[in-house]
Amino acid sequence: MGPEKEGWGKVYFCPTPIGNLRDITLRVLDVLKEADCIACEDTRVTLKLLNAYRIRKPLLRYHAHNVSQATRDILRLVREGKVVAFVSDAGMPGIQDPGMELVLRLLEEGIPFEVLPGPSASLLGVVYSGFAFSGFTFLGFLPRKGKEREETLRRALFLPQATVLYESPRRLLKTLGDIREIAGERRRVLVARELTKIHEEILRGTVAEVEEMLKGRDILGEVVIVVEGAPKSKEEIQVPGRLLELLRRRGFTQKDIVALLSEGLGIEKNVLKRQLSALGEVENLDEG
Ligand code: SAM
Repeated sequence: MGPEKEGWGKVYFCPTPIGNLRDITLRVLDVLKEADCIACEDTRVTLKLLNAYRIRKPLLRYHAHNVSQATRDILRLVREGKVVAFVSDAGMPGIQDPGMELVLRLLEEGIPFEVLPGPSASLLGVVYSGFAFSGFTFLGFLPRKGKEREETLRRALFLPQATVLYESPRRLLKTLGDIREIAGERRRVLVARELTKIHEEILRGTVAEVEEMLKGRDILGEVVIVVEGAPKSKEEIQVPGRLLELLRRRGFTQKDIVALLSEGLGIEKNVLKRQLSALGEVENLDEG
């Protein structure tokens, strides 16, 4: 950020609790108390928080459908010397919420802003998972459908870094299914539900195991998925069932499939045969 403009105010990005109302920093509370105005996604959600801390301030709605007008209002206030605290419904504003849009607009307009530290569901998921030794890729919400969704997932799941996703409970099983298709059923995942809330739940296991745990259940609340990074050792690489299916549909014999994958992926034929026979894909192991 450049030098602050004479007489201008500032926007503060204020992280708010993702469930437990006590997860808010003293500094965020100070800023909320001292700001001239609080810009928020949903006034009902924010009022619940402000009432809990007995904070009364003028509220300005900033949500996906009024971004242009609300940005103009915020810019005007800051230029008049006012301090605007920006909060989203939960967590770190600017992580998969309208705060993303606001950051861009503030940068474009040269408006000063400061980001305060605080909770984000993504980071709790990462720490719970124990998958982040090689780092992690945060994808947020996946594109809903089609090629873009598949490609986004495929690119991430072949990296050695863990992948972090936000998902609605309604689509959780579908997304786990997509992960299994691409990464194989043995890839380990963590599903964290309702973090910091009374009914917080952490599910761990291979993707197939976690799917099994969730099947037939009424899944409610908010969800983070963390997928372990792709295996580094060739022994551990699992060939996705979908790839085998594709090769078979294209008319390759099982012997050819083993030869191709062995050459293409640099995996020993024996290792491949073991994996394929476990999947029931190789009927005659002595063929090649
Ligand atoms: N800005 C927020 C943050 O920093 O985490 C994220 C906002 S995004 C609109 C909301 C998504 O975050 C939810 O759909 C869910 O995937 C995740 N999320 C938020 N709170 C959560 C919680 N308590 N437990 C699990 N996931 C949560």
